[in-house]
Amino acid sequence: MTVRVYIGLGSNLEDPVAQVLEAVEELEMIPDSIMVSRSSLYRGKPMGPADQPDYVNAVVAMDTLLSAANFLQELTRIEDLQGRARDGEKWGPRIIDLDLLMYGKQKINTPDLTVPHPGMHERDFVIIPLSELAGDVNVPGQGRLTSLINKCENHSLRKLVTA
Ligand code: ATP
Ligand code: CA
Ligand code: CA
Ligand code: CA
Repeated sequence: MTVRVYIGLGSNLEDPVAQVLEAVEELEMIPDSIMVSRSSLYRGKPMGPADQPDYVNAVVAMDTLLSAANFLQELTRIEDLQGRARDGEKWGPRIIDLDLLMYGKQKINTPDLTVPHPGMHERDFVIIPLSELAGDVNVPGQGRLTSLINKCENHSLRKLVTA
């Protein structure tokens, strides 16, 4: 049985739109998995340190046969492939960030993986694109998307007109 997963994508270095679109292409090639849908791209103000470029964010939905741990491994592999550095400050600028937002309806808490992603429910740049794909989905432990959207952080999100 496949599991529906949602992945949050973000970039604010080296042509962020191109980085996000490249990551989408790489995600399409994850084994034992198929791409279901991709949200619009959004530009927004950074979270954390303010002295960094604006971010481009999107969310994709996939169906996978992989375990959550193996799926995260694939995300890390793609981040490495695109040249993500891992020595920067927390929430500092990055070429690509791929977060496993949800893995079916499961709650997972291991040293390397927390699902649903711990910050997702309060971030407009995650839950607004997610709502394009998942409607009013219930985020396990957090509630329905529409109620989360009403109280989330504001990063001045703007939808990009792009392919
Ligand atoms: P945030 O997690 O708040 O969005 P970040 O994306 O900048 O911040 P990273 O430096 O990319 O954080 O990731 C730090 C660690 O988070 C990773 O090594 C990974 O093991 C762990 N992690 C835990 N849960 C998840 C998840 N659901 N998706 C991605 N990484 C996760
Ligand atoms: Ca595939
Ligand atoms: Ca992140
Ligand atoms: Ca991350």
